[in-house]
Amino acid sequence: MKGLRLHNSLSGDKEPFEPLHPPFVGLYVCGPTVYNDVHLGNCRTFLTFDILRRWLTWLGYRVRYVRNITDVGHLENDADDGEDKIGKKARLEQLEPMEVVQRYTVGFHEVMQRLNILPPSIEPTATGHIIEQIQMVEKILEQGLAYVVNGSVYFDVQAFEKRVGGYGALSGRKLDELIAGAGAGRRTLEGQDEKRHPADFALWKKASPQHIMRWPSPWGEGFPGWHIECSAMSTKYLGAEFDIHGGGFDLKFPHHECERAQNLACTGQGGPRYWMHSNMLTVQGKRMGKSEGNALWPRDIFSGDHPLLPRAYSPMTLRYMMMQAHYRSTLDFTPDALEAADKNLAKIREALGFLPHLTGSGVSDFSWSSWQDSLFEALNDDLNVPLACARLLEGLKHLHQVAHKQAHISEEDLEALRSFLPRFVEEVLGLQIQATAPSDASALQALENVMGLLIQLRNEARVSRNYALADQIRDRLQKVGIQLADSREGTTWHLQGSSSVS
Ligand code: AMP
Ligand code: ZN
Repeated sequence: MKGLRLHNSLSGDKEPFEPLHPPFVGLYVCGPTVYNDVHLGNCRTFLTFDILRRWLTWLGYRVRYVRNITDVGHLENDADDGEDKIGKKARLEQLEPMEVVQRYTVGFHEVMQRLNILPPSIEPTATGHIIEQIQMVEKILEQGLAYVVNGSVYFDVQAFEKRVGGYGALSGRKLDELIAGAGAGRRTLEGQDEKRHPADFALWKKASPQHIMRWPSPWGEGFPGWHIECSAMSTKYLGAEFDIHGGGFDLKFPHHECERAQNLACTGQGGPRYWMHSNMLTVQGKRMGKSEGNALWPRDIFSGDHPLLPRAYSPMTLRYMMMQAHYRSTLDFTPDALEAADKNLAKIREALGFLPHLTGSGVSDFSWSSWQDSLFEALNDDLNVPLACARLLEGLKHLHQVAHKQAHISEEDLEALRSFLPRFVEEVLGLQIQATAPSDASALQALENVMGLLIQLRNEARVSRNYALADQIRDRLQKVGIQLADSREGTTWHLQGSSSVS
C-alpha cells in the first residue's frame, strides 16, 4: 500500500507526506474569529482538519495540533481597513471585548464537541501572544523588510521581493496585478495612504482614540495586524519550520500569503512545508458566510427549526453529511444531502449493532483484507474521505448479506472485522454511534420477521384499496424510528438515524 500523499497548495500537486521529525507531526490550523457563532461553513473546515489529525494519529504519528483563537486584529476588511470585528461587536452590544470573546469561544467549543471534532493540543489566543507578535515585528524591522509610519508598522512587500522573493507563490497572485487591483478606490481606505505600496500590509496598527483593544508597543499604543498572530503562534509552538498548515481556501490570500512572507522575513524559513486548504461549503452554489446572509447554524440542524429543513438531524448526521465531498471540492448544503447521510449512517449503526452477534464459518466470499486496504488507500490519497465512506458502505452491504445468511465470513475475518470496524468508524471517521440493533441474533431475526409481516399487511391493505390503513402503518412505524422505502423491487425498511437526535 502506498503511503500518505497530501495536496500541497504551494506546489499545486499531491506530494508524499514526509514529516520533518517523525514520528512527530506539527499541524497548525487557523481557528475562528470569535465575534460570532460558527456557521456550518466554518465547521466544515475544522472537520477536514479533525479527520486529517485523526488519520495521522491512526498512522502512528504523534500530532501536535495547534488551532488558534483569533480574538484581536481581524478587521472588517481584509485590506487592513475597518473596525476590529470583536471591538465592533463589543461596541454594539455594550460589552467588554473579552466578554464577546468568552461567549463565542464557549459556543465554538460546544459546537466542536457535539460534532466530535477533537480539541487541539494547544489553542493559543492572539491576545495571549502580543509580546511574541511585537518581537516578530521588531525582527522584520531589523531585517529592513518593514517600515514605521505614524505609529503603525507595515510589511514592505517590494523590499521582500527584492531580497527574499516568492510573494504570491502560495496564492498565485502577481505583484503587478495586486497594484492594478488596488485601484483608485482602495487608496481612499483608511491607512492606505500610509502604505508605500498597495500590496504592503499592516504588522502593527496604531490605535485611534476610540479603539478599545490596545497594547503598548515600541511604536506607541496599538494592536497587532491579523496575519502576524498566526506566524507568531505557529513559530512559538511548532518551530520556524514545521509540517502542515491548514485553513479554508478563502484564507490563501491575503492571510496565508502574508503569513508566509512574515515567516520568511523573520526566520528565513517559510513555516510549514505543506499548505492545505479546505474548500467552501456553499448554499445554492454560493459560499456560506455570515455577510452573504445565507449562513446556517449547527443549532438549526439539531432543532430542525429552519425553513430549509423538513426535520431535525443529529450532530453525527451533520458530520457524516459534511464528509461526503472531498475537502478540496466545494460541498453544497442541501436537505437531501442530510437525508442521504442519515440513511447511510443508519446502515453503519445497524452493522455495528449486529457485528457482535454474527457467527463466522467456512471461507469468506469477500476479501475483507483488500477491502480494509482500500479504505486506507482512499485516506492516503490526499484524504479522500468520501471515497473511504463509499467503500465502507460497500463492505457493510456484504456484512448485511452475512447477517441474513446470504453470504459467509470466516471466523478469522470476523474477528479481524470486530476489532477493526468500530475503531475505524469512531477513531478515524469520528462517528460516535450507539448501536441500536437488537442485543442478540435471534431478536434481530424476530424483528426481521415482524417487519416482514407488517410490510405484507400494508401491501394487502393497498391491494384492497384501504390506503388509510396502509399510510397509518407507514406513519406509525416512522414515529417509532422505522422508515419504509418503496421501490419497484418491493418495500424495504431501515432504522432512522434521526431517532437518536441528541
Ligand atoms: P473566520 O472565523 O471567519 O476566521 O473563519 C474560520 C474558518 O472557517 C476559516 O478557516 C475560514 O476559511 C473557514 N470558512 C469560512 N467560511 C467558510 C465556508 N463557507 N466553507 C468552509 N469554510 C469556511
Ligand atoms: Zn491564521
